[in-house]
Amino acid sequence: GQRVEGGATAGLDPDQLEAVLAPRGPVCVLAGAGTGKTRTITRRIAHLVESGQVNPEQVLAVTFTSRAAAEMRERLASLGVSGPGNSVAAQTFHAAAMRQLRYFWPMTFGDLRWDLLEHKFRMVARVAREVGIDVSDRDLLRDLSSEIEWAKSSAIGPDQYADAAQRAHRDVPTDPRTVMQVFAAYEAAKVAPNGDRLLDFEDLLIYTTMILQSDPSIGEEFRSRYRSFVVDEYQDVTPIQQNLLDAWLGGRDDLTVVGDANQTIYSFTGATPSYLLDFTRRFPDATLVRLQRDYRSTPQVVNLANEAIGKARGRIAGTRLQLVGQRDAGPEPVFAGYDDEISEVVGVVAEIRKRIRAGVPASEIAVLYRVNAQSEAYEEALAEAGIDYQVRGAQSFFERPEIVAAMRRLTSLAGGPPPPMQPVDAVRHALHQVGLTESEPKGANARARWQQLLRLVEIVETIASEAPELDFAGVVGKLDERSRMRHAPIGGGVTLSSMHAAKGLEWDAVFLTGLHEGSMPLGRASKTVDEVEEERRLFYVGITRAREHLHLSWSLSRGEGRGTKRRRSRFLDALVPAPSAGLDLEPLPERTEPDPDVLKALTVWRKEFAESHEIMESNVMSKTMVRTIATAVPTTLEDLAKVRGFGRARTDEIGAAVI
Ligand code: ATP
Ligand code: MG
Repeated sequence: GQRVEGGATAGLDPDQLEAVLAPRGPVCVLAGAGTGKTRTITRRIAHLVESGQVNPEQVLAVTFTSRAAAEMRERLASLGVSGPGNSVAAQTFHAAAMRQLRYFWPMTFGDLRWDLLEHKFRMVARVAREVGIDVSDRDLLRDLSSEIEWAKSSAIGPDQYADAAQRAHRDVPTDPRTVMQVFAAYEAAKVAPNGDRLLDFEDLLIYTTMILQSDPSIGEEFRSRYRSFVVDEYQDVTPIQQNLLDAWLGGRDDLTVVGDANQTIYSFTGATPSYLLDFTRRFPDATLVRLQRDYRSTPQVVNLANEAIGKARGRIAGTRLQLVGQRDAGPEPVFAGYDDEISEVVGVVAEIRKRIRAGVPASEIAVLYRVNAQSEAYEEALAEAGIDYQVRGAQSFFERPEIVAAMRRLTSLAGGPPPPMQPVDAVRHALHQVGLTESEPKGANARARWQQLLRLVEIVETIASEAPELDFAGVVGKLDERSRMRHAPIGGGVTLSSMHAAKGLEWDAVFLTGLHEGSMPLGRASKTVDEVEEERRLFYVGITRAREHLHLSWSLSRGEGRGTKRRRSRFLDALVPAPSAGLDLEPLPERTEPDPDVLKALTVWRKEFAESHEIMESNVMSKTMVRTIATAVPTTLEDLAKVRGFGRARTDEIGAAVI
């Protein structure tokens, strides 16, 4: 990295400076998104080192993901306090614990050995079989594993599991007593008869804490080594991470924490902002600094973020900070309601095209959605439009294991005798055999897989309605074609990401999609006030990823004749300008399907479009493609309006999406 000119205190605002210059001891920085939290703590470390208050190797800076740790190391290196011969340690909690465990383990456990549990899933499956669980249900095993992880992260033992899970409204995948049994058996199975142990990730933290606290001389040795601690994204700390932090401190108070309680979106993993919120009660002498100047986003985006989180309820809401945008004014956020999901996808892709034409690099554009199953529609539309994309934090839809398995099953049937069923029913039937249940299953992993399979059914329904003459083999063939149309993820393309996986990142243009009830807040996640509030914070995290362009969209039904009408997200109610401001927020009028003449005309335009954009012209004629092309060929709008069945209303709608 580049060396920062002017030293640790250059280019800081007065509040940031206060946090940087605070004397050694407890410091708490409460700060909103984009206010320079990471900048402030790295500068504080550099300042403590430069002013000789602490040796670099006595500082331990921790964060939660290796990406965040790497970013911190990079920033420290550019400040000249991390790197060869000058080493502030910036690590994840797990990496720090593992290192310490290697060193301190023999002092407590002597000759006994420990090893990292590499095949956790296998271990869970083994003990589950012993407990009498159907281990062919891999989703159940994954969900059991997640429950054990949550309980251990929350410092909850097997005996307390059932009560704690109920209190925390856990989505328990099976009878809580069964989880408890598996949990207990799992813990026992990791210890060999001679006392050697296999440790999972949570154990790394738990054992290190135990060792540091068990023997005063070990604690002493540790404290002579590390003297100053810094935690970024402190709202994400779990109880066992906090326990480890306490063991590190050993009664001392040289601790700087930075966090934004309003970005708490990982409660379901055991993360809790309560330590951040209680910091000044625990350390009454703490220097408390609030950062409210937002350096990332335009005032328009900042104001919207303020309003969105302004409606929050509960304890976290009390820590709300009114962010003040520091950048020049930018474009107004765009609110766009569509009558169905395909129209939304087409509208969003048309906007993306506009941004790219206006010179925004594709890598500076992101499409964010609530659940990963929503990525597929955007993958298809972007691939068809010839726009590069990459799916973040998840595989591309047709590469996901459940979809690969389902596709295999479909194609293996396609060669056999035609089922007497309709193609769509036959597909449903085939998918039931790979785990598509009638009702939504319990457990997060099972549900994610279920959503993916449902999405596959939707795609098949679309194919069948566009080409009613196709038999089962024909439908499967089209599906296969559609899956092969996807290109491999391309670095530098548009980012497709869940809102969760977008945390901490930023783009020039952000498209927040699927902002209707049932999706945002997610249906099952809106049973309690706490759950709705966590969804609201997720919405806030989404908004604050945008530097300039923010596009918020929703659709009022799944598709023509599919599902019930739904309303836009409650989170939008207070934000969207009144309809009198010129925005049509009512459901769009019922659409009449384009008739064969229209399709014929569009096929010609589509060919031209494919040629002029040098993209593959597959023989699939999807509605998405029709609309994508229609939006991409503005000169034909007049003609389009004349074509029977398309109508003035549709062309107006398309016209609005064209530059
Ligand atoms: P997040 O909420 O995503 O974790 P953050 O609060 O950690 O964000 P940073 O990443 O430290 O924020 O800073 C956001 C951006 O603002 C960075 O590009 C940073 O360089 C810039 N920035 C921070 N402070 C200042 C400042 N005083 N003057 C100019 N730019 C600043
Ligand atoms: Mg940060």
